[in-house]
Amino acid sequence: MASYTASQRYLSTRGGSYNLSFEDVVLKGLASDGGLFIPEEIPSPPSDWASRWQNLPFEELAYEIFSLYVSPAEIPFADLKDIIHRSYSTFRTKDVTPTVTLDKEKNIHLLELFHGPTFAFKDVALQFLGNLFQYFLARRNQGKAGRDREHLTVIGATSGDTGSAAIYGLRGKKDVSVFIMHPSGKVSPIQEAQMTTVMDANVHNLAVDGTFDDCQDFVKALFADPEINKTHRLAAVNSINWARILAQITYYFYSYFNLICQPSFLPASTVRFVVPTGNFGDILAGYFAKRMGLPAEKLVIATNENDILHRFWQSGRYEKKRVHGTAAEGGIPEDGVKAHEDGVKETLSPAMDILVSSNFERLLWFLAYQVYSSESDATEKRRATAGEHVRSWLNDLRSKGGFGVDADILKAAQVDFESERVTDEETLATIKSVFTMTAGHLSHGYILDPHSAIGITAAYRSAERAQSSSTHHISLATAHPAKFSNAVEAALHGESGYSWSEVLPQEMQGLEDKPRRVSHVQKSSGWQGVRKIVIAEVEAERQAAEKAPK
Ligand SMILES: *Cc1c(COP(=O)(O)O)cnc(C)c1O
Repeated sequence: MASYTASQRYLSTRGGSYNLSFEDVVLKGLASDGGLFIPEEIPSPPSDWASRWQNLPFEELAYEIFSLYVSPAEIPFADLKDIIHRSYSTFRTKDVTPTVTLDKEKNIHLLELFHGPTFAFKDVALQFLGNLFQYFLARRNQGKAGRDREHLTVIGATSGDTGSAAIYGLRGKKDVSVFIMHPSGKVSPIQEAQMTTVMDANVHNLAVDGTFDDCQDFVKALFADPEINKTHRLAAVNSINWARILAQITYYFYSYFNLICQPSFLPASTVRFVVPTGNFGDILAGYFAKRMGLPAEKLVIATNENDILHRFWQSGRYEKKRVHGTAAEGGIPEDGVKAHEDGVKETLSPAMDILVSSNFERLLWFLAYQVYSSESDATEKRRATAGEHVRSWLNDLRSKGGFGVDADILKAAQVDFESERVTDEETLATIKSVFTMTAGHLSHGYILDPHSAIGITAAYRSAERAQSSSTHHISLATAHPAKFSNAVEAALHGESGYSWSEVLPQEMQGLEDKPRRVSHVQKSSGWQGVRKIVIAEVEAERQAAEKAPK
């Protein structure tokens, strides 16, 4: 039982909104000034957290952390506990996010985040977000019937991982409809099957005969449409939603506690976290953990060839680059960037193929707060100054395609973070070398998915730089290899001891033969065509709910 209470409020990174509640920021997603929500203060855990939290099971640790960010006046402790329990009892392992040692000699460990319903790390956050939505709506709808009930319509576009995790987070949730658009025939067969075989009445898959960009354009147009906003409460579940960042803080602490009780972790040992990064949501949770007191020496950003973040940490310039290709799920609708004007490179790690990293804006705010004001300034003024800087940077990003920061900002960013860029070729080489190396001492070789392989490649480079055998690396494994057959096959086909059929977990076997529910949308029918479908299907759902026996 937490004996401390928090009354946490939230503000926007661009200075426009203050003093919002957790419920406000979760339901809104994006601030009305276009900024992202952050807590007014990064809370400090109780002074004895290191001993008090060390042996807690995952759910209890999550509870301790979340209750520092969510006021009990908003969600009573018992309810928060229940939401957490419902979110993590869907995971296949008791540990929820176990840590395994990959290389004893080099002290390289993997934090496995893929034991949730869709086998991707996004489940950790989206299972929680789905239950939060349901909780808030149930409370708002108490004693209400029929059309008086508030209804949430979640709309998103996906090129793979986000869509399936969102669908599994929201399936069957009362008073919530979810519409996920994907480019027809352009997501991996497993991911398409994961999404479209979900039969819950509130789940609506829309296959668009276009690209991911077309789907994203439809989503943006709907969010900007005054008409549907008058009749429907639209919500987004993309990685800018604050609840997703919050949910991800837990496993940094959990994994740290796992590590320090191992005999190889000596009193003088230090730990670095390595994070395969796209939209900067996962690693931002690590930053919050570090600011809360987690003794992580560094957070290492691992990018693929879409390396805007890596280039920033090298140069202090945050700039889009013109290359050809299609974009994967970036932040909807937080930036006005049209992916097809600037394009990103298609790589073997598609969940990290991004043009700009939406959550980076949150880090920028904290850096500006720290660098452009001092402790002696009034807090209100410090916040306003930080917001002004962020607004001006983001304006330059939109109008000029990039911006540069002062040396002091870059220096501050380098205190907590380092970065590494990993190519497709290196990704494949790592999948292969890790398989061969571990085949020697595990019962069979460890198979990394391409995203996790980027993290491990970066971890080895960081270990090389650290040159101290007491440095441990925890690298985040963000997806199960079965979701990315092309990369795994390309790396391991013909290796002795490897067979694809053994990669596929039981839950995914036969998935592709199950019945599917999906509507096809012609690109030519435009976003207005999508609007028609959304309105009609929400209406049908609500009518059915009214007829259902109470
Ligand atoms: C989303 C995703 C990432 C990137 O995470 P961010 O929070 O966007 O940085 C990495 N790997 C996989 C498998 C993902 O689905």
